[in-house]
Amino acid sequence: MSRILVTGGAGYIGSTATAILADRGYEVVVFDDLSTGHADSVDSRATLIQASLLDPEALASALVGCEAVIHFAGKSLVGESVEKPELYHHVNVDGTQNLLDAMATAGIDKIVFSSSAATYGQPVDDPITEESIASPTNPYGASKLAIDKMITAAGISAISLRYFNVAGAYESTNGWLPERHNPETHLIPLVLRATAANPLKIFGTDWDTKDGTCIRDYVHVVDLIEAHILALGALKPTVHEIVNLGSGGGYSVREVIAASEQVLGRTVPTVESPRRAGDPATLVASIKKAKSLLGWTPTRDLVTMISDAVKSQVQ
Ligand code: UDP
Repeated sequence: MSRILVTGGAGYIGSTATAILADRGYEVVVFDDLSTGHADSVDSRATLIQASLLDPEALASALVGCEAVIHFAGKSLVGESVEKPELYHHVNVDGTQNLLDAMATAGIDKIVFSSSAATYGQPVDDPITEESIASPTNPYGASKLAIDKMITAAGISAISLRYFNVAGAYESTNGWLPERHNPETHLIPLVLRATAANPLKIFGTDWDTKDGTCIRDYVHVVDLIEAHILALGALKPTVHEIVNLGSGGGYSVREVIAASEQVLGRTVPTVESPRRAGDPATLVASIKKAKSLLGWTPTRDLVTMISDAVKSQVQ
């Protein structure tokens, strides 16, 4: 069975990919500098190389014997990217250029890349398609778009997967793989840890949406990784495809809170707060291309995402 290099394989999404790839019989090499990932999230069947994308020699040795790369590694906090744009460009864009150079030297021409809905910026379309204008509004989104363009220029077999809001968790043979970011900024983990003393801040209740709160498209991390495995099988020589991954429908912040209350069997303390800078009102993916190109259909609903997140956090 083929060997896959998973960069960022110690993070929330990358570690889930690593475990599911190992379940499917792939040999996985994880490349992660552990700056935000966790060594204990890396599946015991994988080989962990602790190194940075900024280290070309480490990349060259990690790639030996690999058939393809799934590239998750990178800095991923929108707010931090606004404060430190050079850091985001350096790690994400320069780091990926090192990876592409090392792949070219090693003769490896297959990559599946973790891109983002942040490449689109303020949406002009609802739902957002892969043809929608990409005009990022923060350095994080700009770095993902720059990488997408670099991959196109490299002329290799590639699929960039543009994630919308990823949630839920996977129970691997080594246990649950929870979302554990520090700081945590994502809605569902914050809803689950809200208390009366530290209520969930609802960022804006005056948006032009059905209940005044922002609408996002949530997709279960296990469905998301299934799309990566399908993408590995859908790579075509010298073609770079861009594919959105979401569920194709949206939930408001208040709907996420209501679903969480249903799962938890208790009230979630909240406080109405000002809008968060840079948030668009509505972000919903068109997933027609994911269906037609990859044969992918997400199957896990919002309640499953929330209940799996709960199970993963209480282990
Ligand atoms: N959100 C919120 N309170 C929080 C965190 C997030 O109201 O403490 C809202 C946020 O404004 C957005 C949605 O929840 O509309 C999802 O935010 P998240 O940071 O999870 O993902 P993003 O859409 O920014 O990638």
